[in-house]
Amino acid sequence: MSIGLFGGTFDPVHNGHLKIAFEMLRLLNLTELRFVPCAIPAHRNSPLVSFEDRAAMLELAIKTEPRFVCDRREILRMTTSYTIDTLAEVREEMGGNSALIFLMGIDVVEAINKWKSWRSLLNFAHLVIVDRPGWSCQFPTDVDEWIKVNRTISISELQKSPCGLIYLASLSALDISATDVRGILCRGGVAQDLLPASVQEFVIENNLYVDLEM
Ligand code: ATP
Repeated sequence: MSIGLFGGTFDPVHNGHLKIAFEMLRLLNLTELRFVPCAIPAHRNSPLVSFEDRAAMLELAIKTEPRFVCDRREILRMTTSYTIDTLAEVREEMGGNSALIFLMGIDVVEAINKWKSWRSLLNFAHLVIVDRPGWSCQFPTDVDEWIKVNRTISISELQKSPCGLIYLASLSALDISATDVRGILCRGGVAQDLLPASVQEFVIENNLYVDLEM
């Protein structure tokens, strides 16, 4: 068994997220991939729409793939959403033997050394870092060292051990960001091709993002 976790604000979930989620499912042969919407971000502005609306959009976006799950644990904690706490909780629940794999885009890794207990993330999970169009690999020195020391180039090593490794995945990611999507929606536009149709419909039905300050 191997479980993937994909954390993010998902404000809103878009086709760029789904593309890498599907690729990860296949590449890592995951038993399950849990999308974990962030409730109270520690290092960025609050999302523009509520946790419940973001989670509802996620549920719609992932409903065709039974191995995708929306994991609402961060809203239940009622405190700042630290990834280390989420990984520790999931590790506790699944026991020590199976692989737990946390996915993140390369843009996020640039500032990972600001995260709470960032070096200890590997005590609970492996990290898989995904390329993002338009982002180059300029990590701070301590992050660069940390990646070099813990890096593997073997998928089977990830699958065979529970935690502790970093894998850099070169995928054909899509050049889509939630910032761009919000920009279109705020102006009352339709983000066709950037969002699943069900998410676009939910946005329109619930009048989300329109006229909000970016
Ligand atoms: P924003 O523009 O608001 O920062 P975002 O598009 O980066 O949003 P998030 O929900 O913040 O989306 O991202 C969740 C995770 O998904 C992060 O690890 C991020 O790097 C990754 N990610 C987001 N979009 C893509 C994409 N198009 N390709 C690869 N990874 C992505």
